Amino acid sequence: MNIVLLGSPGVGKGTYAEKISKIYSIPQISTGDIFREAIKNETKVGLEAKSYMDKGELVPDEVTIKIVKERLEKDDCKNGFMLDGFPRTIAQADALSEISKIDKVLSFVADDEIIIDRLSGRRVCSECGRIFHVKNIPPKIEGICDICEGKLIQREDDKPESIKKRLDVYKKQTAPLIDYYKEKNILAEIDASKPIEKVDEIISDVRKALEE
Ligand code: ADP
Ligand code: ZN
Repeated sequence: MNIVLLGSPGVGKGTYAEKISKIYSIPQISTGDIFREAIKNETKVGLEAKSYMDKGELVPDEVTIKIVKERLEKDDCKNGFMLDGFPRTIAQADALSEISKIDKVLSFVADDEIIIDRLSGRRVCSECGRIFHVKNIPPKIEGICDICEGKLIQREDDKPESIKKRLDVYKKQTAPLIDYYKEKNILAEIDASKPIEKVDEIISDVRKALEE
């Protein structure tokens, strides 16, 4: 099964992606994670992506499409995959349709107020990447990762100026994909406004949508 996760930054795609990927044994392919890894390793792609990401802008389609195409050619994608954070523009969606057939697009929806709270309180482990939230998913010790004891940091693009920019970019460039996939009859809308304790309910809605 080839799945795409769609939804505003902060809607919780990463959290759902991890669970869905386990349930269906398909790799989770997050373009955001691929770019962050490239930045860490100071590769050419990383250097190019960084300037856009820090500002909350999209990395150019050409670069993004190329890395996804290469990733989808790997063996572990043969029995299905899940894209998290791609496509984010109509041009990317058109390119994806040339690369592979998509079975289902899950569109996660929550109000702006919830989104802004999730993004501004989000903290990530600088070592293992695990996600926390100052109120909703607090670590046992403030500022320290429960899993690996790494230091928790705020992503550069989770600072207020970049959050606003990312939400604008989402509305202008990515939200049109909802209609794009609706027209193809492969869109399922999932209510993602429930609090984190109810993440299992969200996942059960996802399973229903995928298995219908
Ligand atoms: P979020 O969904 O919380 O914004 P991501 O980790 O998915 O976070 O993405 C972080 C940043 O990486 C984006 O703001 C953008 O700069 C870049 N990026 C990720 N995916 C794409 C994409 N498909 N096209 C262009 N830029 C992307
Ligand atoms: Zn950690």
